[in-house]
Formats: sequence, C-alpha cells, structure tokens
Amino acid sequence: MLMVSEKNPQGKNPGSFPYQISDSYPEAKASYHISAGHWRVSYSNHVDAMAVRALLSQVPIHDTDSILWGNCKACKLSISEIQNTIRTPSVRPGWYNVVWPKTLVPKFSCLLWLVMKQRLLTRDRMRRFHMHVPQHCVLCVSGTESHAHLFSECPYTLFVLQHSPCPITRSWMEFSLGNVTAQTARTLAVSHIRYQVGRDSSFDFWHDPWVNNKPLLAQFPRGIISILDSYPEAKASYHISAGHWRVSYSNHVDAMAVRALLSQVPIHDTDSILWGNCKACKLSISEIQNTIRTPSVRPGWYNVVWPKTLVPKFSCLLWLVMKQRLLTRDRMRRFHMHVPQHCVLCVSGTESHAHLFSECPYTLFVLQHSPCPITRSWMEFSLGNVTAQTVSNTEKQITYLFIAAACHAIWKERNARVHHNAHAISAHVLANLVKRNVREKLLTCTALLRSIRLDPRLEATVLH
Ligand SMILES: [Zn+2]
Ligand SMILES: [Zn+2]
Repeated sequence: MLMVSEKNPQGKNPGSFPYQISDSYPEAKASYHISAGHWRVSYSNHVDAMAVRALLSQVPIHDTDSILWGNCKACKLSISEIQNTIRTPSVRPGWYNVVWPKTLVPKFSCLLWLVMKQRLLTRDRMRRFHMHVPQHCVLCVSGTESHAHLFSECPYTLFVLQHSPCPITRSWMEFSLGNVTAQTARTLAVSHIRYQVGRDSSFDFWHDPWVNNKPLLAQFPRGIISILDSYPEAKASYHISAGHWRVSYSNHVDAMAVRALLSQVPIHDTDSILWGNCKACKLSISEIQNTIRTPSVRPGWYNVVWPKTLVPKFSCLLWLVMKQRLLTRDRMRRFHMHVPQHCVLCVSGTESHAHLFSECPYTLFVLQHSPCPITRSWMEFSLGNVTAQTVSNTEKQITYLFIAAACHAIWKERNARVHHNAHAISAHVLANLVKRNVREKLLTCTALLRSIRLDPRLEATVLH
C-alpha cells in the first residue's frame, strides 16, 4: 500500500495525504523506497519519520547491492582479510625467521618453536612443577637439564652444532632472541654511523670510513693514491680547497670513480660523526638502543600493571596474573600434578586465573570495594579494560592500585588456605586490608593526593 504520492513534491501539502509514519509495509525491499536513484519516503512530520529521512539522506545509493567487509566485497573476502581486521597485530619475535624459514620441515620447525618459547618439558621445568625427577642432563651427565643447557651449552650439543655451515652463537640469550649467526656489533653499528666532512677535516682521506661507511682504500686498489697525487696519510682537508673537493683530473677509471663519489659528499663547516641524526658526542644509550631494537607493542594491560603509582610486589603479581603464569590448580592439573581442582576461596568453582581473579564470589566481594566499578569479564580484565572508559585519570590510577593490591591479597589468602587447612580470612576483612594498603600507598603520593583532595566524594571513598 503505497501512500506516498509520487507527484507530491517536497511535501508542500503534508496534510493532504493519509497520515502513516512511513507508508511502507513490513516486507518492503529497499528498492520500494528508491525512485530514480533517490530515497523516496513519506513526508510525514512525525519525529521518527524525520529521523528516518535524516538517516536515509546519509546513505548513498549505488548501482548494485553490496555487502562489504572493510572495503572488500563480502563475496570476494578471504579468511586472512577478516582475521587481519579483527586481530591486534603483534610484532614478530626475533626468532621468527629462524623458526619459520622459507625452507622448513614442519616437525623440525614446531620443535624449534617450542625450544625458543622454552616450553619443552625439560627436567628443570619438571622440578619447578614439583615433579620428582633427577636434574642432570642425560646427554653429558654433568650439566643440569634446561633449555639453555640442552640447546646451547651441553658439550654434546656443541659438538653437533659445530658442523653447521656457519658458526652458531654459543650464548643461549642470543640464540633465544634469534641472533643465531654472526652479526657483530661492528657491522650492526656501522650501518648507523655517518661521517660529515668539515672544511678543515681531520679525517684520514684514505683510511677513515667517511664515504659509504668504508675507507676509500677498501674501495679502490692502493695505486689510486699516486694516481690522485695524494699520499697515504693525507687528511680529507688536503683535498678540500675553498669549500670544494680538489683532486687530480686524471682520466684513470678509478680516479673518475673517486671524483664521482666525492661529488656526492657535501662539505660541512666542521667534522661530525653522527648516529642516525644525532651527534655521536651527545648520544645517549637509549637512543642507540631504540635504533637497533625492534620495538614491541605494549600489551593492553600495560598501564594497569605498571601505573605511575605502583607497589612493586603488587605489580609483579598482577603482571603474572595478566600473563596467567601463576601456578593455579587448573595449570597444575594440566601438568599432571595430583591436586584437587576446586577453588579454596569459594569451594564451589574450579580454580583458574579467570575464576580466581574475576569470577569467584570471594573476589567479587573484595573488588566491590574498588573506588570505581571493575569489569566482571575476565576477557576484558585480561585485556586491561578494567574500568569504564569515562572514569577520570585519577580514579583510574587509584583503581589500578586497588586491583593490584586486591590480586596480591587474594593470591596470598589462596596460598595460605592451600597450605594451612584451618586458615581463613573473610572477604570482608580482606577487603578492609586491601583498602588500608591502598590508602597507605596513596598517602605517599603527593601529586595524586592533591587531585584526590579536589574531589570530596573520591576523598571520602579512598582516604577515610
Ligand atoms: Zn648436557
Ligand atoms: Zn572461588
């Protein structure tokens, strides 16, 4: 039932046509409301009708229907495109190319991957999980079996690795970072160092690597010195005159090559040696490190675990919580340790990181005392989205401190209950303990304290 008059232009006489909000029907296709490439709906003055028209005015009409994912047509979409839109890309670890080279044998690469991640069940790890095994390496009998020993220190392994086509590092640290073959500091550094030649340059013309990071003598045969009417100890300034390079006009092919090189080297006022764009003399270690290292992306929970005001022992524990590396009962059982699986705090749930730190009723009771509400979703929690985005910065800082203190207290209480049957502090007492710890820390943070005192409600919650 089309109630829109096709001849009714711009609703000049809105009272004249039958009043229904959209003059449509439930099964209407979008094309029913398109005419000559424009949206065509009732000119009703109903507030919803106006809202629909406002919406439609922003929807362009294309030649054909398409459903897109990002900018790709849904029908031509690949799984990898979907995955790349959804996932947070992570930085490739240093060993990526070592473990997954172009020519790989899957079973070898998978094992090497476990080696790099140190996830094989070596004896040192077994013992860390309280398994009763001897600790010596079965290959050499003298050392202690660990990833480091087994794959880069054991004499047995070293003998095998000697047969590699290129020497392999003997440092487990370098090995596990993926720096398995030679890349000496020198070759690494040279690519970042730049020489700027000054008018009165004291660089050795033939021996310093001021052009292309190599001495001229390494780029040309020694005869070039006499061809260019120079001498071995010549400084660069010897070949500079009035701010221009001055060398022999010889037609020798090497002389022409040197002149071509020099024409690309500008002459500055003074000599400088630069690292990247920084003067070497003013360079800081962190600048060097930042040029060499592959920066990694900060995990979402970074600011939660390491806020400005932190108590180291709380933050370290929270860090382990976020990385799910505490020895909770679900993990112990995964390592075939014979322990009951129930949570000792509530006795009903199964102990895991998710349960212990965001689902257990005991924990939920403690977390209720946070100055700002804390998410109850472990997924959000472990991604670092612990509070509402709208919470002020000061409140966030206090909440992060509270969470760290609470997790620490909860883990401590859990351990106490596991090891001493009779022990049990009520959630109420624990919450007060956490609040006291937070308050004591806050009283030592002058800047934070000042902004807390600006907000009487917050002051009453956290300081009293
Ligand atoms: Zn060994
Ligand atoms: Zn529980």
